[in-house]
Amino acid sequence: MSNPPTFDFSGKVAFVTGAGSGIGRATALAFAAAGASVTIADISDSGLKATEDMMIALGAKVLSVRCDVTKSADIKLALDQTIAAFGRLDAAFNNAGIEQPGASIVDLTEDMLDRVLAVNLKSVFLCMKHQIPLMLQNGGGAIVNTSSGAGVIAIRNQSGYCASKFGVTVASKVAALEFADQGIRVNALCPGIIDTPMIARYTGGTEEGRAAIIKQEPVGRMGRPEEIAATVLFLCSDSGGFITGHALVADGAQTAGI
Ligand code: NAD
Repeated sequence: MSNPPTFDFSGKVAFVTGAGSGIGRATALAFAAAGASVTIADISDSGLKATEDMMIALGAKVLSVRCDVTKSADIKLALDQTIAAFGRLDAAFNNAGIEQPGASIVDLTEDMLDRVLAVNLKSVFLCMKHQIPLMLQNGGGAIVNTSSGAGVIAIRNQSGYCASKFGVTVASKVAALEFADQGIRVNALCPGIIDTPMIARYTGGTEEGRAAIIKQEPVGRMGRPEEIAATVLFLCSDSGGFITGHALVADGAQTAGI
């Protein structure tokens, strides 16, 4: 993006899951550009290494942790390492996720349902469970959980993915209610179609596949990961200080007509 976000996160510490690719990588880089120390967490060693190299090139303070977000122990360890390295936790972007192969509700396998709910939804519960007590130690913080347009509208052949993303939105709202009076803000972010490796897999990576999916976007293009990153930084910044319990749609009007 030609104009990087202008938020100031100097002295702040951010934790980003799914930071080895796409939206998570762009957000980790944006936090770093805004002065934060950043923990990048992902299950992919190669993805983490690539993001870490980009962050080091920015002069960022970065901690890279291999973490499977379906495992409570992995998340706790990554957060303990964050506190050991940087001393506090101010912002968390719980963003790791997987797509679901298209299948009708009767054809969706139990394994795939378990997997998509574990990676996309259970992980958000586990992350918040371990992050909120750490944020409370320094008076509060802000959490953004990645939902989706699929957390706003029902999509055929995506029952597991939609259920996971509607769940992320509701879990975010409940957490916001529970901790609103203790300085913790929690919001869900619902991106439209964003140009990342996930969408490349979804479209088959072909020009025809891209064109077909872009037709769903009234703005006539996909969103850029950096645009979602800027929205995350806004929600975590003092500028978003009165926003909590909200599901913010950033989708080029994809769901506006529903
Ligand atoms: P991506 O595939 O480019 O990145 C996802 C990252 O999550 C990868 O680095 C992957 O290794 C990591 N990951 C997967 N399983 C994990 C696990 N168990 N533990 C830790 N990390 C794991 O995808 P993206 O497009 O950047 O998607 C990021 C988030 O945004 C996802 O939650 C996705 O559902 C959501 N989303 C994406 C779009 C889109 O159009 N790209 C739209 C709406 C919502």
